[in-house]
Amino acid sequence: MVRRKSYQISRLLHHDYLFVVKRAPALAKTGQAGSNRAMRDALLQEIDRSRDELAAFTADLIRFPTVNPPGDAYGPCCAFLGERLGRQGFAVEHIRAEGTPGDSDRYPRLNVVARREGGRPGPTVHFNSHIDVVEPGEDWTMDPFAGIVRDGRVYGRGACDMKGGLAASVIAVEAFLRVFPDFPGAIEISGTADEESGGFGGVAYLARQGYFSKPRVDHVIIPEPLNKDRICLGHRGVWWAEIETKGEIAHGSMPFLGDCAVRHMGAVLDAFERELFPALDARRTTMPVVPPGARRSTLNLNSIHGGQTDDFRPGLPSPNVPDWCRLTIDRRFLLEERLEDVKGEVAAILDRLKRERRKFDYEIRDVMEVQPTMTDRSAPVVQAVAEAIREVFDREPDYVISPGTYDQKHVARIGGLFDCIAYGPGILDLAHRPDEWVGIDDMVESAKVMAIGLDLLLHGHAA
Ligand SMILES: [Zn+2]
Repeated sequence: MVRRKSYQISRLLHHDYLFVVKRAPALAKTGQAGSNRAMRDALLQEIDRSRDELAAFTADLIRFPTVNPPGDAYGPCCAFLGERLGRQGFAVEHIRAEGTPGDSDRYPRLNVVARREGGRPGPTVHFNSHIDVVEPGEDWTMDPFAGIVRDGRVYGRGACDMKGGLAASVIAVEAFLRVFPDFPGAIEISGTADEESGGFGGVAYLARQGYFSKPRVDHVIIPEPLNKDRICLGHRGVWWAEIETKGEIAHGSMPFLGDCAVRHMGAVLDAFERELFPALDARRTTMPVVPPGARRSTLNLNSIHGGQTDDFRPGLPSPNVPDWCRLTIDRRFLLEERLEDVKGEVAAILDRLKRERRKFDYEIRDVMEVQPTMTDRSAPVVQAVAEAIREVFDREPDYVISPGTYDQKHVARIGGLFDCIAYGPGILDLAHRPDEWVGIDDMVESAKVMAIGLDLLLHGHAA
């Protein structure tokens, strides 16, 4: 089952993942004069006044159990967000990503994209948040979908990743519209599906329809929980693959008559332990990946299955020599590495085993490929948000790279838009954990950063 699903994804997107890092153009200095000090202060006061509303809105969003898989409650959550933005004068579109993985009448892959045109020409700034959350799992001390506001925090699945960020961006934009009703350009806010399962029914689908390309959009901010004073420039690369060793079936009492695919896989694992893991561990990157432990090449062995499984006879092992064994690997690689070399070093180990072990044979299949991406620090959106962080926190931002990927890959690869970052409230380590929460102060402060960033991108640099 899992295998078939991964093939589907592979077929759909295999080649789409190959993209290159391009340098973004430097921030245009020719923008209109920045807003003045008094208006900037008014903007920050508007956000301070919205504090309770921000907490309540986050809690409301959490109450939609948008768990993915299977992709529940997307419709009501999109409708709720769309209605709110519609009241603010946004033109709201609801888009179903028909035919993408997981899409069905029961679990439609629904997205909402809202656009508010300004009074005069100018750039478009897009805030993109995924509305899906991972399943709550065990060990919660509260209802994960109650949206509890307590002790300066909002609790619930998705509070941190990333409904808090979505709410902060909406509050930031609403405050901006109150202070600057006659702004230039356009503002977009989207709530998209399926980021947690690869974004195929979300940003990838929308990017194919032109929603994340120029001239429609110029700057994209994804409010993922990377901490309020950090700018996330991109992510490491991914190569997921399935390795299968071949064997020959025989009676389990006479294994010498067959050929054990599981033992062959054992040899693969042994070679990985002795050669590959130490080599990857020693390979460092200049990308500022957080946490620092991920500032190197990594490999996870996701799953291993072999032989005549006991799926249909629970608890009863098969009395046969296994004639197949499959291993799924998740290799995260660096800007300094080339995907073909990443693949080649695994193939070299398998080819050597083929020479060394009698009857050893294997097959290797790509499941997913994502090139690493890192937005240039001189890109306009990076400069604007960095300046906003300096203004709100009176310190230099940290520039980080995410250890895992997120929807930026689709914006870059499919949309061809490289002026994109992740910036949002919430502590990255809390994502996907029990009793997930987001701090209300953090949301307020990051809403201020987003609003100032928006002001700088639309009005040009402040004096
Ligand atoms: Zn997320």
